[in-house]
Amino acid sequence: MTNRSIRKALALASLAAMFSQPAFCAASDARSAQPADLVLFHGTILTVDGKDSIAEALAVRGGKIVAIGTTQEILRLAGSKTRRIDLTGRTATPGLIDSHAHIADGGVGELYNVQLGDATTVAEAVNRVRKAVARLKPGQWLVGDGWDEGKLAERRYLLASDIDAISPNNPVWLEHTTGHYGVANTVALRLAKISASTPNPKAGTIDRDASGQPTGVLKETAADLVRDLIPPPTPEQRRAGILKSIDSLHREGMTAVKDPSIEQPTWDAYAELLKEGKLKERICVLWYAGTTMDSARRALREMQAHPRPPQSLGDGRLLSCGVKIFMDGSGGARTAWVYKDWYKKSTEVDTGNTGYPAVDPELYRRQVRLFHEAGVHVGTHAVGDRAIDWVVDTYAQVLKDKPTKGLRHSIIHNNIPTDHAIDTMALLQRQYDAGYPELQAPFMWWIGDTYAGTFGPERGQRLIPLKTYVDMGIIWGGGSDYSVTPLPARYGLWSSIERETLKGVYGSHPFGTAQAIDIHAALRSYTIWNARQLFLDDRTGSLEVGKDADIAVWTQNPYNMPSAELRNLHCEATILAGEVVFDESTGRHVPGP
Ligand SMILES: [Zn+2]
Repeated sequence: MTNRSIRKALALASLAAMFSQPAFCAASDARSAQPADLVLFHGTILTVDGKDSIAEALAVRGGKIVAIGTTQEILRLAGSKTRRIDLTGRTATPGLIDSHAHIADGGVGELYNVQLGDATTVAEAVNRVRKAVARLKPGQWLVGDGWDEGKLAERRYLLASDIDAISPNNPVWLEHTTGHYGVANTVALRLAKISASTPNPKAGTIDRDASGQPTGVLKETAADLVRDLIPPPTPEQRRAGILKSIDSLHREGMTAVKDPSIEQPTWDAYAELLKEGKLKERICVLWYAGTTMDSARRALREMQAHPRPPQSLGDGRLLSCGVKIFMDGSGGARTAWVYKDWYKKSTEVDTGNTGYPAVDPELYRRQVRLFHEAGVHVGTHAVGDRAIDWVVDTYAQVLKDKPTKGLRHSIIHNNIPTDHAIDTMALLQRQYDAGYPELQAPFMWWIGDTYAGTFGPERGQRLIPLKTYVDMGIIWGGGSDYSVTPLPARYGLWSSIERETLKGVYGSHPFGTAQAIDIHAALRSYTIWNARQLFLDDRTGSLEVGKDADIAVWTQNPYNMPSAELRNLHCEATILAGEVVFDESTGRHVPGP
């Protein structure tokens, strides 16, 4: 080769790399065997493979991707019975994945509880409750979900005094959107035997007014005093709730979810739907480990009754992934365990309140050791900087004592990690394939105004430091924590980049923009990086030959649309293992056979 031809070859190579079009890639038998079942062509296919390649077309057979290439190459694999989807320039991505969404409980809430997530005044919330109470018999429980003082014009908690007059005969529990606190009316407080003389339970707070009377607001374990009295959903309601959520997921191009903190009745509901062929979603669950060694041993027994991930039930549909432990509370409730006092209204110091651990820290350490030694994946809820340090140090200790690769222990929420925590996560990821944040960028949006008020202006800059993670080679899983924030993953893609709050109470960007990332990393966090955290990375999370055909089709191309518009990313079709489970063009949703 002459110098000139070498230069030319290099220029062509770099041009090719720029477009990163993969060479035609096919399973060894793709040409010789049966025609494809399904082909997608004339599109922009964001494969999210190792090179972030973009292709035009792909072919599916037996639920798996058998070839990726140009339209011409792929159409050669189609036969007379092949379903052909002409993308006409639209974009396909891997099916999106959420590593933290309470889809079973959230679906039940949407179907059977009063929804308060979009209430903008106290009066509006109270009015919805009034209407619902009118339909009940005296004594029946009324449950509501989703209120948030950051979204109410009054910027204050709902109180028992707001709902006593409209519900004198029915107990009421209105859960805050974070799930870490709520408000009970006086009927409910009486049933729970909560009065001025009731002490705060361990790891809980009974909110009180200036005269010491309970206001009705109950946080963390104090909320359980009321919650434990509410009749649980019936098995039919649980199944209906899951199907409702699966429908919502399909409409948003989402094909896999980690449902954290479940117990036996929820597992049974998933397993029954699977048996009936209605579980058209990949579900990985975490069993709730509780706050004692006994409860941890029980969770271990429950999870060990099922195949160990990546083994699954139903060919990748249902996985008993591991356990969940709570290290602390909520950034909204000012109960998460932090080094410096919480704030109220952004600048008013909540003197002496640094939150608290949800479980005795030493006991937590013993729980983690129990699971780790049994080879079980642990996800720990940790919001505050002090809780996160304790969790990553615990992981580091048990991994040092029993080095095990691939358990992928995670730090759920991981809101304000210290530099020490960030360094430790980087180390654990490299050495042990563990220490992954499973975080929810939409916290900055949906509960961002409440968060800006409690974290305060300085600490808020450390919230969800995605750019630092990218710079340090730390990978994470994206999520919604539905129903803490809405389910669609597009909000997470958008929030990862824009970091904007819903109402701008303390300015539109109280958490700054220095930690913003680009769409390429954001999409990875809702696809291939999440697939790892669901133990499904050999199967889904990217569009590559040999993987299951989990695909979302979008009107816009997330890689070149304005990032401010990402929250409006529009899903047109969703494919799970080669089956079209949602198709907007036919207006058809296919929940089951
Ligand atoms: Zn959660």
